[in-house]
Amino acid sequence: MPIRRILIANRGEIALRIHRAAHEMGIETVAVHSTADAEAMHVRLADHAICIGPPAAAQSYLDVAAIISAAEIAGADAIHPGYGFLSENAKFAEIVEAHDIAWIGPKPEHIRTMGDKVEAKRTAGALGLPLVPGSDGAISEIVEAKRLADEIGYPVIIKAASGGGGRGMKVCSSPDQLETLIKQAGNEAKSAFGDDTVYLEKYLGNPRHIEFQVFGDGEGNAIHLGERDCSLQRRHQKVLEEAPSPVLTPEDRERMGGIVSKAMSDMGYRGAGTIEFLWEDGEFYFIEMNTRLQVEHPVTEAITGVDLVREQIRIAEGKPLSVTQDELEFTGHAIECRINAEDPWTFAPSPGKVTTYHAAGGMHVRVDSGLYAGYSIPPYYDSMIAKLIVSGRTREGCIMRLKRALEEMVIEGVKTSIPLHEELLKQPDFISGDYSIKWLEEWLAKREG
Ligand code: ADP
Repeated sequence: MPIRRILIANRGEIALRIHRAAHEMGIETVAVHSTADAEAMHVRLADHAICIGPPAAAQSYLDVAAIISAAEIAGADAIHPGYGFLSENAKFAEIVEAHDIAWIGPKPEHIRTMGDKVEAKRTAGALGLPLVPGSDGAISEIVEAKRLADEIGYPVIIKAASGGGGRGMKVCSSPDQLETLIKQAGNEAKSAFGDDTVYLEKYLGNPRHIEFQVFGDGEGNAIHLGERDCSLQRRHQKVLEEAPSPVLTPEDRERMGGIVSKAMSDMGYRGAGTIEFLWEDGEFYFIEMNTRLQVEHPVTEAITGVDLVREQIRIAEGKPLSVTQDELEFTGHAIECRINAEDPWTFAPSPGKVTTYHAAGGMHVRVDSGLYAGYSIPPYYDSMIAKLIVSGRTREGCIMRLKRALEEMVIEGVKTSIPLHEELLKQPDFISGDYSIKWLEEWLAKREG
């Protein structure tokens, strides 16, 4: 069924990103927004806009009834959830479909399975993905956990089954701390996610974070669009991402890509997904799957030429994938910097009025952002205000272009993370591509000390 009008259940740069893909397909858009976002760019550009509540996300962007009502009032025939907010809420996906509105996302049962990390790990194992050694499901007995930890060796990491956004994890380096940390992790998970289920796995010392972009048509056809390296993280949050990974060979990519696309095909997966791995000494270890579009998807678009949002919409219309694995080519290199409204060194949020704004431009430079001069960044939401994505034939060329583009970006009135990115690009370890998920925090600590 062709889609004519999409309600975008999100805000900021991703709402704009979806609006752009929709308009390029001749599809109308409906923006929903909180009172704090009345002046936002995604609201200005959409064909229709509906205010769905006060600033607090729980009463607006997470309010299922308000969003469904808005879709009915606006006559939307599809909903795109973006990332975050309701994007991985299986119940919401079911409600959307029950209202005869196309859900631009995976099948609700797959969202549910992958949203529970214990279930996700079990499913990934059954589909043949390599796992981090650890507990076979949730931890119920401390004695059992102790035996297992002895077997796989310390340090181990205790993770919440319902955890997300880098929260709900505890590293344990000796047997005498295990019981206390398991209890603490359970209590914290209970209050943060309403579920005290925890599981245990080997803590990898110095891995990279490498994830594969996948797409399925829901009928058993699936492809992979290569990997992204997201090892530059602070507090488990990604700061800069690149594709391809500086450490994978084309053979590694083909082998692992083959394994993930076969898994998605066997599952009958529909739409966009990301399979996240830790990578150490040439081995991949599955950690989780995200059943949605990722913040860092543009680096994949840059090296494949595939518009991932367009692809999501096509699949929701019941169309086949627009490219086959054989047709896909990976060309050159791409890097994305997440630009946040925050102090570049203390990371304290810095919302407020943007007095001057000038986006970088030029060949192979893309800025995804809802910013404009005079816009007030509200204090209620995520601090990411822009993504700068550059591409080039080689990684070296890409780094040079990124330096040049960062020089051109002007955001005044608030503090931003641009100075952090400028400093990062000068570091020999970054230039050589020799960094793990620990690198950024160690570098920041050294810089401070
Ligand atoms: P979330 O859903 O909260 O993002 P993930 O399972 O994706 O949680 O893990 C987030 C980050 O935590 C990873 O990118 C990695 O930096 C770290 N991490 C997770 N599991 C392990 C592990 N077994 N060993 C070492 N680091 C880990």
